Amino acid sequence: MDPRLCSLLELQRALSAQRELEKEYQEIPRRRQEILTYLNNLKEEALRAEERYKKYEVEQRTVELEIQEGQSARVKKEAQLLTIKNNKEYQATLAEIESLDRRNARSEERLIEVMERVEKERKLFEEKRKEREEREISFQSELQELEIREQGLGARVDEARKVTEKLRITIQPELYNRFIRVFNGKQGVAVATANGNHCSACNIRLTPRLVQLAKRGQDIVVCEGCQRFLYWDHSLDEDHLSTL
Ligand SMILES: [Zn+2]
Repeated sequence: MDPRLCSLLELQRALSAQRELEKEYQEIPRRRQEILTYLNNLKEEALRAEERYKKYEVEQRTVELEIQEGQSARVKKEAQLLTIKNNKEYQATLAEIESLDRRNARSEERLIEVMERVEKERKLFEEKRKEREEREISFQSELQELEIREQGLGARVDEARKVTEKLRITIQPELYNRFIRVFNGKQGVAVATANGNHCSACNIRLTPRLVQLAKRGQDIVVCEGCQRFLYWDHSLDEDHLSTL
């Protein structure tokens, strides 16, 4: 086998491993951002729920105050009744008391509604707060794990890049550039076998001349179908297999 092809095969393995690690490594900031966005949304939801709950609490106090005022107004009017001598004035005050009673009754109804609402909003707020706290704890530990993973992967990526670089400098630049173009354009597979007279990557039938060249292994042979570098894997030959 052409030693240049051996190097390309090695480079393909090293570069694949490097890309795999890089992908994992780049996944970490994305996941971290996802967690932070999620937590932020939970925080905002809890805040909005708290605001709604507080708003209804304020309304409850307002209605309670209205009722208090209505009741003391009624007490005053009733006391007035005792001092009135004039019948017309007496009837007018009675009418005012009835009107106050109606208003107070409406306020009482409103108070019940508002209190129910306060209770509902309080529960929603508590749920949101609890969810946020629980998530925060589990996400904190995930964030810590990510941090550790990131450091480990960072070191492995550096190591893998060094391995690739070591191989790269042994390969002629023009060949290297051709290899990279195919590697990037063909999902990380730049080298294929010619065994069975077919390109193992694109499956095209190879011309006898190409097969001969690949078998001989003294030239760089490129598949006419997919432009990948071809070699004949002698370890896959039947003769070889039968001796295993
Ligand atoms: Zn091919």
